[in-house]
Amino acid sequence: MNLILLGPPGAGKGTQAKRLVNCVGLVQLSTGDMLRAAVANGSAVGLDAKVAMDRGALVDDSIVVAIIEERIDEPDCRNGFILDGFPRTEAQAEALDKMLSNKNLKLDKVIEIRTDDAVLTERITGRFACADCGEGYHDQFRQPLVKNVCDSCGGHNFSRRNDDNAETVRARLSAYHSQTAPLLPYYRQQGVLGEVDGMLGVDEVTDQITKIINGS
Ligand code: ADP
Ligand code: ADP
Ligand code: ZN
Repeated sequence: MNLILLGPPGAGKGTQAKRLVNCVGLVQLSTGDMLRAAVANGSAVGLDAKVAMDRGALVDDSIVVAIIEERIDEPDCRNGFILDGFPRTEAQAEALDKMLSNKNLKLDKVIEIRTDDAVLTERITGRFACADCGEGYHDQFRQPLVKNVCDSCGGHNFSRRNDDNAETVRARLSAYHSQTAPLLPYYRQQGVLGEVDGMLGVDEVTDQITKIINGS
């Protein structure tokens, strides 16, 4: 099964993708994570991407399409993948359609995580993650069960993204509305779009997604 999670920054795409990886056995493909890894490596792609990411603008289509195309060919993607944060423009969606049909793969579902813009700044500015395993947390909504200890790996190092500030949130939201939201009618027309209520708690959102995946 191949899925896309679509929604604005802070909607819960990463949180839900990680849960689906654990319960359905799909691979999470996050272009944000891949780009951050490229930035950390200091590669040429990373240097290019960093400027846009720091401003909260989208990275060039050609860069993210190339990254995804290479990743989808890895053997672990054969059982299915969850795209988290890709595609984000119509050009990316069209490139994805082409690459899937060339590989005889298909898109099973696109799941829109619907949220009110008003909650997104709070979600993003309170976000942090385990630096060792990537498990996601939130200052108000999801603290580790034991203070300063990761629930998932027992690690003690946590990190915050430097683009998770109120200023870039505005730019990222505006990029979402102008460049990514037009993908909703695109996928509705293909008959693959499903919607979940991202304002609910994390468990309830997972339940709604699981129902869509199971076709009930
Ligand atoms: P995205 O990948 O869409 O940018 P995340 O999954 O990283 O979003 O979630 C953003 C922040 O909001 C994280 O700190 C996460 O713990 C928190 N969060 C995710 N889903 C919910 C939810 N349904 N209710 C409250 N907080 C949430
Ligand atoms: P969030 O889910 O909080 O919006 P991501 O980790 O998905 O954050 O993305 C972080 C940044 O990486 C984006 O603001 C953008 O600069 C870049 N990025 C990630 N995915 C894409 C993409 N598909 N196209 C263009 N830029 C991207
Ligand atoms: Zn951890």
